[in-house]
Amino acid sequence: MAKTFRLDILAADKYFYGGDCEEITFPSIDGRRGVLAGHEGMICCLTAGEVRFRVNGETRRAIVSEGFVEIMPTFVKLFADSIERPEEIDVLRAEAAKARAQERLRQQLSTKQYIHTHMALKRAMARIKAAGK
Ligand code: ATP
Repeated sequence: MAKTFRLDILAADKYFYGGDCEEITFPSIDGRRGVLAGHEGMICCLTAGEVRFRVNGETRRAIVSEGFVEIMPTFVKLFADSIERPEEIDVLRAEAAKARAQERLRQQLSTKQYIHTHMALKRAMARIKAAGK
C-alpha cells in the first residue's frame, strides 16, 4: 500500500479537501512539482493551473489560482485564492475573462495592472484547458 500524508486544500472561500493522500502535483512558479510522503519541508508559490492528487489510488483534479503550498514530511497544506472542480467551471465565463484580459493587455498598462491582467489571463486559460479535458 502506498505511503500517505495528510493533505488539506483550502481556498479563500471554501475548504476543498482534508484527508489522506498518496501523491500531489501542482503548478508552482518554477514549474510543476510533485510531492510524496516524507518530502523535505519547504514552501512553494502556487500559480494558476491544475492540481492532481491521488486518494486510495484514484486521481482527483482541481483548478487553482494563485497561492502557496506548505510541504512537510507528514503533511501538505495548499492555500489558493480560488479552487474549482473541473465540472464546476463555467467555460463561457472563463472565455469572457480571457477575452477581457487579452483586450486589456493590448492597452497601455502600469506594471501593476499588467501583472494583474496577466494573472487573470492565466486563470482563465487554466480554467478553459481543465474544463476541456
Ligand atoms: P471573473 O473575471 O470571471 O470573475 P476571475 O479569475 O477574476 O474571473 P476569481 O477572482 O479567480 O475570478 O474567482 C472568484 C470566484 O469565482 C471564485 O470563487 C472562483 O472559484 C469563481 N470562478 C471564477 N471564474 C470561474 C469560472 N469560469 N467558473 C466557475 N467559477 C469561477
